[in-house]
Amino acid sequence: MMSTSSEAKQQREDMVKDQISRRGVRCKRTLAAMQKVPREKFIPQKIRQFAYYDRPLPIDEEQTISQPYIVALMTEALALEGGERVLEIGTGSGYAAAVLAEIASKVYTVERLELLAQKSASLLSQLGYSNIEVLCGDGTQGWPEHAPYDGIIVTAGGPEIPESLKSQLKIGGRLIIPVGSSEHSQKLIRVIRLSETEFITEDLADVRFVPLVGEEGWAK
Ligand code: SAH
Repeated sequence: MMSTSSEAKQQREDMVKDQISRRGVRCKRTLAAMQKVPREKFIPQKIRQFAYYDRPLPIDEEQTISQPYIVALMTEALALEGGERVLEIGTGSGYAAAVLAEIASKVYTVERLELLAQKSASLLSQLGYSNIEVLCGDGTQGWPEHAPYDGIIVTAGGPEIPESLKSQLKIGGRLIIPVGSSEHSQKLIRVIRLSETEFITEDLADVRFVPLVGEEGWAK
């Protein structure tokens, strides 16, 4: 059982080395953020001993906290240098938002399920993350009030790339999103906005995320 914060720190060190660096994530800011955020705090009490396992874990409302490597891969793909404004869709446990907030200057995160939005907002403020704002709503519509964003990360899989999210990217900004024609298997896609009207799209990996449910996602 994990009992002390120094044990957790050691488990994080092993996680970063064995699960993340070893698979090719090189970005120093990403590795430092993964080393810092106390993942165990975002995991339901009863399964907290598995916090640093190399896998996603169930959270409330039949949702999941992503595998550590996937959080690192997506964070690295944003190519943050510090100081950015980032939008996350799918707050879930709040873990990925915390990782992003270690690098970006401001993180806006949207969660459609009220219970998860409330729980993660209170946990994140309790952990001292004063640069994260949580909104309960349909993230396929983005969060227009704070747009445009340097980076947007979607942690649930949709059938297509929501136009609303593309339109809320800065020129040069990046959108990382799992997209697939089945609700449970996707390609992780990176979209970079080249100009007002031009975007380039790259394939990063095969992934499995919970469904993105909303206006520009899967139907309820
Ligand atoms: N980033 C999270 C992963 C949570 S799983 C973490 O680190 O724990 C994905 C989350 O996306 C779920 O909580 C789900 O409720 C949420 N979600 C699905 N569709 C959404 C939508 N349209 N807008 C906002 N959140 C959505």
